[in-house]
Amino acid sequence: MKIGIVGTGYVGLPSGVGLASLGYDVICIDKDEAKIQALQNGKVTLYEEGLEELFQKVTKNGKLKFTTSMKEGVCEADVVILAVGTPPHPETKEADMRYIYAAAEELAEYITGYTVVADKSTVPVGTGDAVESIIRKVNPQADFDVISLPEFLREGYAVYDFFNPDRIVVGANTERAADVLKKLYAPFSGKTQMLFVKRKSAETIKYASNAFLAMKIHYINEMANFCEKAGADIHEVALGMGLDKRIGNKFLNAGPGYGGSCFPKDTMAMALMAEKFGADMSLIKRTIEGNRARKKEMAERILNMVSDLENAKIGVLGLAFKNGTDDVRESPAMEIISHLIEKGADVVAFDYKATDNAKKILGDKIKYALKADDVFENTDVVAVLTEWPEFKDLDVEKLGPKMRHKRIIDLRNLFDGQMLKKAGFAYKRIGI
Ligand code: NAD
Repeated sequence: MKIGIVGTGYVGLPSGVGLASLGYDVICIDKDEAKIQALQNGKVTLYEEGLEELFQKVTKNGKLKFTTSMKEGVCEADVVILAVGTPPHPETKEADMRYIYAAAEELAEYITGYTVVADKSTVPVGTGDAVESIIRKVNPQADFDVISLPEFLREGYAVYDFFNPDRIVVGANTERAADVLKKLYAPFSGKTQMLFVKRKSAETIKYASNAFLAMKIHYINEMANFCEKAGADIHEVALGMGLDKRIGNKFLNAGPGYGGSCFPKDTMAMALMAEKFGADMSLIKRTIEGNRARKKEMAERILNMVSDLENAKIGVLGLAFKNGTDDVRESPAMEIISHLIEKGADVVAFDYKATDNAKKILGDKIKYALKADDVFENTDVVAVLTEWPEFKDLDVEKLGPKMRHKRIIDLRNLFDGQMLKKAGFAYKRIGI
């Protein structure tokens, strides 16, 4: 089976590498020439654990190729996967569909033989219908079906999640398309549940899932605020809640608010989509507002730690929106740092993978440390903004004397607060 993937980003690239390692002939297509050139030259363009190794294997054995030519990628493909971005529209904040529609229009004329066009991008309900119409209009003779194939991978675990999905959801309105997908995912048979549903249901499942997870995060953050006031400890509370199988222990880590390229835009798109359909989504709306406010509030908490000082210097641990990725899109760290700078603070930050991407947003407004230890150098407070587990291994006690003031605000609850307090640090965390 031959597969073309349109869009070679955080979804398209790991999917391409994964499918090629299953033995399929995969061509990844992207209009970003620099990206395709880098990939053709053997350079992996984003960080994901385990991606580099598999990438080298499947490019060397010729199973995975890269091109900027839609024709080359589509004309022999049995399945064409759409994995282009659906960012928030700059004005309406709805999912911006121009990349999907453009890709559909561009690929349509190259469809030869029966082809399944599988939409992996997160798209509003009804997009499958629209994509179908676009292709039909450009190429009335084309023999094709459009299906929804929502992607559930977690950034930072993209490779693991490709091979170990919780479920594979296929929204196919024809048996013929469903059969192709059964064949494509045959290697997962018996290992994971394949769910075949109506195309519109599959499109909804993706938004419904992301909005639910975003609400879960916001819920535990609100609960953390409660614990702070009531004298409980959110860590203990989350532990106790998570043992209930109906609740589960995932997404119960209180922190500075959710970020990333999915939750903020998908909750917004879901709320706006619901408005259009006249359905009340007050829980999602409240989550969006609360999460937005939280980031600013977190920045204020950091500033409060140094409100007694003139020209405070703030050290920041973490720039990525979560650990395991170099992605800074909608990262709480980006928003918090921007707020700190606005208030005139002097910031030095470190991240294991995301510094280059952060530089594209923050430029020279902050300084970038080459190693985690350096953010303690002459700073008045160190704020933990990303939950890189490596930060736990820092010898903070030893680094304390390098600081101007021994103050730490741990927005990811990574450090051992008791130990730090004993060592003379002013230490604040979330939810206690
Ligand atoms: P991305 O921005 O990393 O990659 C998209 C790529 O598509 C870019 O390289 C862009 O150049 C390319 N592109 C755009 N238009 C094109 C065209 N006409 N032809 C060829 N290439 C084109 O985006 P992403 O993070 O991979 O997300 C893709 C989709 O998957 C989005 O809808 C997103 O919501 C969804 N999704 C993302 C994740 C995630 O963790 N990032 C998880 C699940 C679902």
